[in-house]
Amino acid sequence: MPLNSIVLYRVFEKTRSSVSESVRTLLEHKHLYQSVEADISVDREEVRKSIDLERLYTTNDHIAVLQRSVNDKHIGTAVDCTRKILEAVPWRFWVDQPDPGDINDSSLEYKSLDIQLPDIKVACDFCDDTVQPHNPVRVNGLEDGVAAELESQKQIFFLSYLCQSCKRESVIYVVRRQERKLTIVGRSRFESVPIPKAMEKLQETRFYRDAVIAFNSGKTLASLFYLRTLIEQYFRRVLAVDKDEKVRGEDLARNYRKLLDEDFPMKFDILGNTYDSLSNALHAACEDKALYINAKADIEKHFEALVLLPIPQTSET
Ligand SMILES: [Zn+2]
Repeated sequence: MPLNSIVLYRVFEKTRSSVSESVRTLLEHKHLYQSVEADISVDREEVRKSIDLERLYTTNDHIAVLQRSVNDKHIGTAVDCTRKILEAVPWRFWVDQPDPGDINDSSLEYKSLDIQLPDIKVACDFCDDTVQPHNPVRVNGLEDGVAAELESQKQIFFLSYLCQSCKRESVIYVVRRQERKLTIVGRSRFESVPIPKAMEKLQETRFYRDAVIAFNSGKTLASLFYLRTLIEQYFRRVLAVDKDEKVRGEDLARNYRKLLDEDFPMKFDILGNTYDSLSNALHAACEDKALYINAKADIEKHFEALVLLPIPQTSET
């Protein structure tokens, strides 16, 4: 078994599982137009450790123990060669990855990097936006492992995933590969947005959902606008302000505060301040990601507190 073949086999084996893990990170944690960089680096020391050199040379009747420097040179050459092959071959993502073959089979070919699609856990819109296990499935009419080749190292993949709880309709992700970078560039259904329990019945929930989608798509300013709209429209509804009536935000906040239960904890009486911070950011066109994260958390906390201490005069939440 030539050293080159062993190195190729080991490196492809490791890279397959590392890219598969990157796909899991991409689909579970990234959103439209966000990316991950897959690790396809080849570490010489790691390769050396993965190869049982003594056994290798013994089986080849090179019983003499080679000098470490000679081993290094051989491994170095094999690694360089492997790296070139790995960086040149197209990728294939499989629902059922073909058998990678036995390490002792010297006729193995390395025309593509064949990667098993991982099982993932993502929110399902058919299952009330809860996180559910999803398994890769074949896309109807498409052969398993097929990719569109844009040019060398630029590919487009269709990855189809079916929720294992409801098994209703698979969601298809369109993933673009450029060298080692994988980006979600499309999806067959809109991303599911889990709504906090305390806000499920809120009439203004759609603004919360749009804020999350805007933020996840990289439109921070739009997400701040949706959060501010949520607060403003909620104030106006609860205070029964006429649709055309002009009322300043600070007046809405002050009047709203009067409605709250007298035991309502001050630290959760934050909608007015949050509204102000959001307004300031919008006036300055400030794409403040931290503000979005804090404002969203503050809004959630306020509605959680409202579940325990609802507004006394009305049944509104
Ligand atoms: Zn489902």
